[in-house]
Amino acid sequence: MAKVTTSPPVPPRSWKKSATLYAGQWKQRTGSSIVLKVWTGACWSWVKVRITGRELPADTEIGSPSLIRHGKQWWLHSPVEKQFASPSKIEKQVKTCAQTKMCAVDLNLNEQVAVCTVQTVEGTILATTFIGGGREISGFRKKQLGRIARNRRKTGIIVEGEQDNVHLWGKINHVDEQIAHRVSARIVQFAREHEASILVFEHLGNLKPSRGKYSHRGNSKRAFWMKGRIFKYAKYKAYHEGILTSRVNPRNTSRECARCHSLVARYAQGTSAEGYTLGAPLVLCSQCGMRGNADRNASLVIGQRLIMRYQKSSQGKPQAPLLGERGEKSPGVAACQDAKSEEGPSLPQARHADSNEHGTAQCAV
Ligand SMILES: [Zn+2]
Repeated sequence: MAKVTTSPPVPPRSWKKSATLYAGQWKQRTGSSIVLKVWTGACWSWVKVRITGRELPADTEIGSPSLIRHGKQWWLHSPVEKQFASPSKIEKQVKTCAQTKMCAVDLNLNEQVAVCTVQTVEGTILATTFIGGGREISGFRKKQLGRIARNRRKTGIIVEGEQDNVHLWGKINHVDEQIAHRVSARIVQFAREHEASILVFEHLGNLKPSRGKYSHRGNSKRAFWMKGRIFKYAKYKAYHEGILTSRVNPRNTSRECARCHSLVARYAQGTSAEGYTLGAPLVLCSQCGMRGNADRNASLVIGQRLIMRYQKSSQGKPQAPLLGERGEKSPGVAACQDAKSEEGPSLPQARHADSNEHGTAQCAV
């Protein structure tokens, strides 16, 4: 018999996995307590425990809860399932109903992290909101990155494959994550308040390397990543509300006039309204006289691009399945048929949002 040099596998001596309580192991669940069937060490017994935290949403189905240990506390995690009809495709919504509302979002690197405008397909502007806080997050990040740079200078060497300044990086990541969630939630809330059924962003393009100190470079890189995160989170949060998300070509969205599509002058208060100053807050269109906030103008252009995509594609290639439903493109026809399709929700349908996300026009397939 061969000599065993390594110890043979043994069943785990301690069990660290969270316990799932299936049907029959819990009962009498209320907002503040639940009765659980647990093994006390000697027998199975029903124990009533107090629970705190958010109420579960009323319109959802609750799955089997799990007991998860957090230090000295036990948390009860409950999966929830919500049934909703999947929204109809963006193309269909845009082409068949002039009153379809969409919320276009311009993400920025300045104080206004996101500027959202709700407009209808026929072009009526309904509401705008500014989501601020950019300066605060950028100041916070810069401070932490400066600390990291100073620590690195002091130690001199960075060990390859090992994260330095773990605590400071953790702090930055945590705050970035929190802001991305807060901003994306606000965007979706705003869209919902104004009954928008489509959310539009611009493609982010590539990160342009910036010059300057380590803290400055690191900061702009993270601000860029944050935009991507906001998009990602907004997209899934929106889908839960039955709102689909799309992205459009970002080319010159801030240089174009939302009213007449000529190039605008971008300037700061107190300077002359000419030329194009990157990041300046105001715009003036010399062609039509439009004057206003630069980010709001950009968000309007982003929304219009989505509509133009479908108008262009409908002029170009013939699209058999949708031709019959079009025709009502002239403004004033407010027949919103089929706002929701009858199909039930499931994962395959969740992919609608995915296929709509990319910049290509979706021809009826
Ligand atoms: Zn104009």
